[in-house]
Amino acid sequence: MIDSFNYDINPARIVFGPGSLARLADEVQRLGCTRALVLTTTFQKDAGQRVVRQLGAKAAGLFAGAVMHTPVDVTEAAMQVVAQTQADCVIAYGGGSTIGLGKAIALRTDLPQIVVATTYAGSEVTPILGETQDGLKVTKRDVRILPEVVIYDPELTVSLPVAMSVVSGLNAMAHAVEGLYAKDRNPISALQAVEGVRALREALPGIVEHPADLAARAQALYGSWLCGTVLGTVGMALHHKLCHTLGGSFDLPHAETHAVILPHSLAYNEAHALAELAPLKALFGENLGAGLYDFAASLRAPLALRDLGLKESDLDKAADIAASNPYWNPRPIERTAIRALLEDAWQGRRPEIA
Ligand code: NAD
Repeated sequence: MIDSFNYDINPARIVFGPGSLARLADEVQRLGCTRALVLTTTFQKDAGQRVVRQLGAKAAGLFAGAVMHTPVDVTEAAMQVVAQTQADCVIAYGGGSTIGLGKAIALRTDLPQIVVATTYAGSEVTPILGETQDGLKVTKRDVRILPEVVIYDPELTVSLPVAMSVVSGLNAMAHAVEGLYAKDRNPISALQAVEGVRALREALPGIVEHPADLAARAQALYGSWLCGTVLGTVGMALHHKLCHTLGGSFDLPHAETHAVILPHSLAYNEAHALAELAPLKALFGENLGAGLYDFAASLRAPLALRDLGLKESDLDKAADIAASNPYWNPRPIERTAIRALLEDAWQGRRPEIA
């Protein structure tokens, strides 16, 4: 029997395919805009300059200062450029960090956003923004935050280093895994989640083998779009809470942390969400956490929090934070079990079903 559910959909126009960056100027025009401010990190500044040249008169300028975790002072610097250039839309070219800056500008100005997504983080299809001020990351949800247009051009992801592609893909999978057992899941989010994980399960080994394989790159972007859509539609649980804690309080790198924690959070929950997680067994075997660990190991993903810079002496504090402020999870949040999970993840042990 189909359970009762609510179904909200986040409207976004998706332009997908190799070479689709060439359609950027048309998309600016389609929004009724004439002066686009291009945003990148310093690392992707050259790509941003190429986009500015490509747009010609439709470009208002380039701000190449996006950084991880969307610090408010960077947003304020970018807001000055928005005002100086009289931009009437923003184009975020990059991963979650650059997209976060575009969202922060849109939240303050309601300017339309076009995202050219170049990682698998999935932020481009969510109405969620994590802003950091005075060392505190605050999550906001607002319709103004959701980008209007997303361009997925697999050619632009060929330059994403293999190691980053792997952890970014596992980060995307984490959205779908938690979406499957989300309290507010619905039949469509479940379809998207399973298909998103399947696509990434298939694509990532191909990318490791042949990083320039456009078919694998397209498959990974398709999967990350679906997984990101799930993140934007339903609530997350233990896995995201743990990663938020480790990133926010211990400054661990975002995608790598998701990659290390996912097998363990899955093992923690799998016996408590058997029916919801069952479709993943065809992809990772009977023991999902262990199967995902083996998959990550085969891709040479990081497997241990100790290798990401977390100190053993931080584990107690991390467990305290993660077990505080009760939140919904298929299995109750037990401090002792969370501490054990973190210990396993710190050591890089293959998880057992809890
Ligand atoms: P990122 O955006 O920080 O990118 C990592 C680095 O790779 C950057 O230097 C970037 O310029 C570079 N890069 C990106 N694409 C590239 C490409 N194709 N070729 C070469 N270099 C490339 O990393 P991320 O993992 O995409 O994003 C992480 C951030 O996104 C975190 O702050 C996280 O909180 C946020 N995020 C937010 C949401 C949301 O819904 N709000 C979802 C996921 C992630």
